[in-house]
Amino acid sequence: MQIKPGVVTGNALKELFAYCKEAGAALPSVNAIGSHSANAAMAAAKEAKAPIIIQFSHTGAQFYGGKSLDNSAQQASIAGAIAGALHVRTLAKVYGVPVVLHTDHCAKKILPWVDGVIAAGEEYFARNGEPLFSSHMLDLSEQPLAENIEISARTLARIAKMNMTLEIELGITGGEEDGVDNSGVEHDKLYTHPEDVLKAYDALGPLGSFTVAAAFGNTHGVYAAGNVKLKPTILRDSQQYIQAQRKTGPKPVNFVFHGGSGSSPEEIREAVSYGVVKMNIDTDTQWAFTHPIKQFMDEKGAYLLSQIGNPEGPEKPNKKYIDPRGWLNIGEKGITARLVEAFKDLGAFGKFEL
Ligand SMILES: [Zn+2]
Repeated sequence: MQIKPGVVTGNALKELFAYCKEAGAALPSVNAIGSHSANAAMAAAKEAKAPIIIQFSHTGAQFYGGKSLDNSAQQASIAGAIAGALHVRTLAKVYGVPVVLHTDHCAKKILPWVDGVIAAGEEYFARNGEPLFSSHMLDLSEQPLAENIEISARTLARIAKMNMTLEIELGITGGEEDGVDNSGVEHDKLYTHPEDVLKAYDALGPLGSFTVAAAFGNTHGVYAAGNVKLKPTILRDSQQYIQAQRKTGPKPVNFVFHGGSGSSPEEIREAVSYGVVKMNIDTDTQWAFTHPIKQFMDEKGAYLLSQIGNPEGPEKPNKKYIDPRGWLNIGEKGITARLVEAFKDLGAFGKFEL
């Protein structure tokens, strides 16, 4: 597929997801928390010659804006998400890569966050004729299904006016991440029921474009094996159920795989074959950033104890070791390498022409 550099929105995003399903590929979605992670993600897309999804979580957006800011009315998370989006918009074309701009989990209690980002997006749309973001996610999986679908439908009706896509969550992703702690959730909720996916399909389908984060035993974070069993066949069963009930073509739903970190290439391939078009990968990229920096700090420890004086002499300056650009770049390269691996696992490597 040939795809233009810059932020992918509207029909281009729908076509991108349709192509992914047809080609048996999915795109990695990485949580950016600052320019370093956003740039590392775009560098990975460039290397893999494929589009990438950059998303901001509620706390990631807050961090992007700066932890010292007051966030009592979500103002830091709103402004941080906008700043991150403008950062990516400015640089994606320079990197020469297509980027899908997205916001991550938004639970009911922080709806004013995404509402604020959407309002800013509407202003952006009025000025530029395209939305600021490509898509947003609502995560109302803690609410009863009817309420989840009702609020999701209302939000989709609003953003569909800008031809945007909505990601919803059905069932609960286990584990803990960015203030979303589902580590104590009862077992049954960790698996989505095909009937629930059909209800969402019927309610949201007529309104606009949507994707479904379905729970199939996937968890946020990386844990020792054996806690929860991954059952990607839930995705297949949901697709077949809707296809049969509503007489659609194969794989009518675009699925999202949350908690991709720590999954084996086989598990990823199986999930993608059932219509996953987006896989969130956060913990693995956090590790890929932090670990090489730790190695650097360990190796150069004797050069980081004071500004002057190191094993080469008491008057030797340490400026080049102290400069954060040195070790930040080591972390950025770690993220890029891990994401290139993800592109390969997801079958997206070599499937695009930029
Ligand atoms: Zn998630």
